[in-house]
Amino acid sequence: MKKICFLFAMHAEAAPLIEKFDLKEEKGFFAPLPPVLYKGEHNGKEIFVVLNGQQNGLDLVGCEPATLTAQLVLSTIRPDLLINAGTCGAFKSKGSAIGDVYLSDKNICFHDRRVGDNGGWYEMGVGFYPCMDATEMADELGFKLGRCTTGSSLDMAAEDLAMITKNEGMLKDMEAAAIAWVAQLHNTPLLCIKSVTDLCDGGRATEEEFRENLSMAAQKLKEACFKVLDYLLK
Ligand code: SAH
Repeated sequence: MKKICFLFAMHAEAAPLIEKFDLKEEKGFFAPLPPVLYKGEHNGKEIFVVLNGQQNGLDLVGCEPATLTAQLVLSTIRPDLLINAGTCGAFKSKGSAIGDVYLSDKNICFHDRRVGDNGGWYEMGVGFYPCMDATEMADELGFKLGRCTTGSSLDMAAEDLAMITKNEGMLKDMEAAAIAWVAQLHNTPLLCIKSVTDLCDGGRATEEEFRENLSMAAQKLKEACFKVLDYLLK
């Protein structure tokens, strides 16, 4: 494994990792576009971390920024492995708890693209994009495995839940499938590491629960990224 690049949506999610590896910002690398590149070294290998960047002082969360960032990264840095690290919602009915860390399993779906049911349009909408088989890694490092499912909203409409249930989604986020699509186009393996900030069926207001748990989840995410790197670079 030569070059590994982490993609994050939010600065708060990436901050502990940037600090731990003492990564330095490469100012203007993607100018005039918003993504931001940090670089450093671990075990003699270069580590790349790219954030979607900000507009109007807010992190660019969601599928469009994630698509743009992934395309830029895969056409300039050309990593051997892309890791989408971030936070997610999960389901207590599926055994998840706040602070759990998951690796992506099986394939990656969209849950809010309803473009038809026939002639392959259903599959086109949902995506079912590949991610690397992390079964052994999860087993060795003690992480759970779950299918990531992505949409453009933090809240969950009834139609989204129906799609998540149908496709056995476990981790609800706003970037993974967009990144997975670009990774597939470039034939670059993708792994997602997701730390649970909120429970979609826990009865709490999602944004409030997300805010409350963001910094704890980011710490867990940093530890997980570190373990995964050590596993991949050993
Ligand atoms: N209003 C929020 C905006 C964050 S959006 C704020 O105050 O910061 C949530 C981010 O965390 C996205 O990048 C998404 O990938 C992830 N996320 C965490 N929980 C989520 C959930 N339940 N549904 C969708 N995305 C979630």
